[in-house]
Amino acid sequence: MAILEVSRLTKYFPVLGGVFLRRTGWVYAVDDVSFCVKKGETFGLVGESGCGKTTLGRCIMGLYDMTGGSVRVKDTSISKLTSGQKKELSSHLQMIFQDPYESLDPRQTVRQVLEEKYKIHGKNPGNLSKVIGELLENVGLSRDSLTKYPHEFSGGQRQRIGIARAVSMNPEIIICDEPVSALDVSVQSKILNLLLELQKTMGLTYVFISHDLSVVRHMADRIGVMYLGKIVEMADAKTIYHHARHPYTKALLSAIPLPDPGAKKQRIVLKGEVPSVENPPTGCSFHTRCPHADTICRQTEPALLPTQTDPGHVRACHFF
Ligand code: SF4
Repeated sequence: MAILEVSRLTKYFPVLGGVFLRRTGWVYAVDDVSFCVKKGETFGLVGESGCGKTTLGRCIMGLYDMTGGSVRVKDTSISKLTSGQKKELSSHLQMIFQDPYESLDPRQTVRQVLEEKYKIHGKNPGNLSKVIGELLENVGLSRDSLTKYPHEFSGGQRQRIGIARAVSMNPEIIICDEPVSALDVSVQSKILNLLLELQKTMGLTYVFISHDLSVVRHMADRIGVMYLGKIVEMADAKTIYHHARHPYTKALLSAIPLPDPGAKKQRIVLKGEVPSVENPPTGCSFHTRCPHADTICRQTEPALLPTQTDPGHVRACHFF
C-alpha cells in the first residue's frame, strides 16, 4: 500500500511585471505530476536543474501551496488538514536539504539545533541530553559535537547534523533534496550509505531528489525522470537503467561515467538550452532538444503511457 500518493500535482508561480506589479504570466514549475511511494521504498526524482523536482518536494512537504492536485500521506490529504493536524503530520514527514551549511543557523550549537526541533513539534522524549547524544552517535558524530557551531564542521559532518535533525522526529517519510550534491565525491558515498543504513534500521521511506542519475541509481527502487515540470518516464530502477525508452532519459544515462576508464560509451549530447518554464514549447516539451523530433512532436503533447514490455514502466513519447 502507498504511504505517499501524489496525484495530478501542479504548482504555478505568478510572474509579476510593470509599474503595478501585475501578473504577466506563469512559471509552470510542476505540471500534472502523479506517483505513489510504498512504505520502505525509495522513489528517485531525477532531472536537470530547474526541472521542478525541488518545487515538487517542497509541495509535498507543505512548504508551498499547490496550485492543483493533491498529496496524501498515509491516506490523509495534506491540503484538508487544520494547522494543528499539519504540525502533527509534519513530524512524520521531514526534509534533508541540499546545502547543509545554509540549512543550519550559524549562531546555534548542535545541541540548540536539535533541541529546537523537539520544541517546535512539542515533543518531550524524556532525557533530552541522552536522546540527542544517541542521535548524534547514530549518524556518526561524537557527543562532543553538541557544544560546537556549524562552522566547526566539514560539509559531510554538517550534512550528518541535518540528517540527525530530520530523523530526530522518528519520521516515516524523508524528502532528500540533493543531499550530497554540495559535498566532495569522497564524502558522498559515506552520506549515501548512512541514509541506506538509517532506512533499514528505522524503516524509512525516501523521496530522493537529484540531478545525478548515478547517485539515484545507488539509492532508488523506482525512478521518475522529470523534464520541464513533468514526469516523462517512470519505472523501477533496473528498467530505467537497462530499458529506458525516452530520449531524454537515454541522454541522461549516456552522461554517467563508466567504472572502467578504458571502456567506451557513446555520449548523447543534447543541443540547446532547457526552454523557459514560463513559455514551454508546444507539443512534446522536449522537442526543441530531441534528436528524433518530428512534426507530430511539435504539435501534440505525448501522454504518459505504459510500455508493453515492463510492468509499471510509463513514458511520454510518440515514437519510443
Ligand atoms: Fe522526442 Fe518526439 Fe519523443 Fe518528444 S515525442 S521525446 S520530441 S521523439
